[in-house]
Amino acid sequence: MTKVVLPGSTIGVLGGGQLGRMMALAGAHMGYRFVTLDPTPDAPCGQVSAAQIVAAYDDRAAARELARSADVITYEFENVDSGVARMLEQESYVPQGSRLLHTTQHRLREKRAVEEAGVRVAPYRQVESEKDLLDAVDLLGTPCVLKTATGGYDGKGQRVLHSEDEAEAAFAELFGPGVDLVLEKFIDFEKELSVIAARTPDGEAAAFPAAENVHVDNILHLSIVPARVPQEVQEKATEMALSVAESLGVAGLVAVEMFWAGGDELYVNELAPRPHNSGHYTIEACVTSQFEQHVRAICNLPLGPTTLLTPAVMVNVLGEHLEPLIRLIEKGGMRSRGGVTPKVHIYGKAESRPKRKMGHVTLVADDVDPALAWIEEAGIWEGQVAKTGPVR
Ligand code: AMP
Repeated sequence: MTKVVLPGSTIGVLGGGQLGRMMALAGAHMGYRFVTLDPTPDAPCGQVSAAQIVAAYDDRAAARELARSADVITYEFENVDSGVARMLEQESYVPQGSRLLHTTQHRLREKRAVEEAGVRVAPYRQVESEKDLLDAVDLLGTPCVLKTATGGYDGKGQRVLHSEDEAEAAFAELFGPGVDLVLEKFIDFEKELSVIAARTPDGEAAAFPAAENVHVDNILHLSIVPARVPQEVQEKATEMALSVAESLGVAGLVAVEMFWAGGDELYVNELAPRPHNSGHYTIEACVTSQFEQHVRAICNLPLGPTTLLTPAVMVNVLGEHLEPLIRLIEKGGMRSRGGVTPKVHIYGKAESRPKRKMGHVTLVADDVDPALAWIEEAGIWEGQVAKTGPVR
């Protein structure tokens, strides 16, 4: 049963991080109230919500309290405890459901679901033993990438194998009780892209323009929009994301990360069933932001246009970048310069640590080149801009 959740209603958010915060800021404009559940007091989303329930994510009593205070429940991260997700689905209104979560929590399930949508993933094999791994390395060739099926993020739980000799050590390192492994062919990609698609419970769907993503140490560094790939590639990437959203029956957002290996070779790498770091540029650069779109989608309101208003480059602010950014702001760094306007977002996390996502800056400009030059000249992200392409 689908229903429309109108402004004035309360949205409960499992997870109190920056994605929830930006969702709450966007939803507040439309008159929604937010309540969030997160174990850290004064969490980024809690700071901008009507209330925060401070409890562990797998605390069922706390999840019930969230359900009691909300008309609709959403989540802002995918490692939601599956028991809590199922309980909430039964006892309250969770339009995103728990099925998509279940699918995206496991790389093998995710790959199979993408294939069922008629969309290509990098060739892969399930690995359950060292012999499986050796057979799979034989079949897929080297280099290849061994990944744990669950729990990996930002490059954790994966090893690139350059030769068969490295298989034994990689297997020993990653395998363990209850660990499923997958071996993927290494894709010598030209660019990494992502497309965020939205779908309502009634089946209306829309996709945002493709972002070109640059990772450093497996963490997103830049999103460049429009992506510097041929128009046909952008169109195909969009089609792929919409096929995935439709086939998986998404309600809300799904971020589809892809590799472009030249020509018309596009492979899906990963899905995220929520707003995504590579979609932050939509706040300033699109008619509708990914966060507003997510709220519209879960509330079953008509989706907003995803039209790109301006080129933009988003750069992440990690722990090590925060202090230099504040000093830059102190020196007038937020002033528009040379046609580039920096828009600063800081997430309000109490503790800054190296590699922790503390904020981002979106550079709005007539073209992506001056925006990239701004980042280089800021001197905060030294040496990172040039590192594009796959890391072997
Ligand atoms: P993942 O955790 O799957 O998102 O992988 C993290 C990063 O590792 C990706 O963004 C890629 O830059 C790189 N990577 C992962 N899988 C592959 C692959 N099959 N071929 C080439 N690079 C990969």
